[in-house]
Amino acid sequence: MFEKEREELIEHLIRWGYLRKPEVIKAFKNVPRHEFVPENVGDYSYADQPLSIGHGQTISAPSMIAIMMESLDFACGQKVLEIGAGSGYNAALTAEIVGEKGKVITIERVAELAGFAKSNLERTGYGRVKVVVGDGTRGYKKEAPWDRILVTACAPNLPKPLTEQLKIEGKLGAPVGQHYMFQTWTVVEKLDGGKLKIQEHGGCSFVPLIGEYGWKKED
Ligand code: SAM
Repeated sequence: MFEKEREELIEHLIRWGYLRKPEVIKAFKNVPRHEFVPENVGDYSYADQPLSIGHGQTISAPSMIAIMMESLDFACGQKVLEIGAGSGYNAALTAEIVGEKGKVITIERVAELAGFAKSNLERTGYGRVKVVVGDGTRGYKKEAPWDRILVTACAPNLPKPLTEQLKIEGKLGAPVGQHYMFQTWTVVEKLDGGKLKIQEHGGCSFVPLIGEYGWKKED
């Protein structure tokens, strides 16, 4: 189902330079995005646009997801924490790259969405991803430190517990900025000695990261 649409989307993302690394391209090929979106928007699964997943939340546009995935240098065997499970699509792409030797845990604050992500992941063969309901701005200390942390909602600042839970040489990607505007996709690398190297990768637009180390409410 949707094979032609998926192929065309991937070709478009490669042509415009969003998709580059073979392992990221392979993950886009193998993970069926249409299995992660609600039925009412299923026909738009392979359009390059964000889609509503209910509860005021979205699955990001494929080009934005490509930017996120490319910027974090995911590799086989890594331990990855995602904040904002949403539909589970990002977590599935990540699980595809880190493989069975790696580990992916994704945290979602909206319990209904955590359930949606879990059932999508199980149905598509990524049941090994652990979905946790909670405030991801606190990280997930009991399994820290992390090789990679992927934040998929926008924080006003980099949440301190997340940078603390990153391994030396680990990388964290997050949208940082204001409510729905002036946001920047930001990649942080923890250097030897714990110093943070911060790189900005261009503008983006995400829903707010709500929690103790994020925004205090929806709007
Ligand atoms: N990665 C998702 C996917 O693949 O569909 C898309 C995520 S959506 C853009 C952002 C998600 O972050 C929403 O589901 C929202 O409920 C969640 N969120 C916001 N603040 C959060 C927090 N403090 N902890 C965990 N999840 C949070």
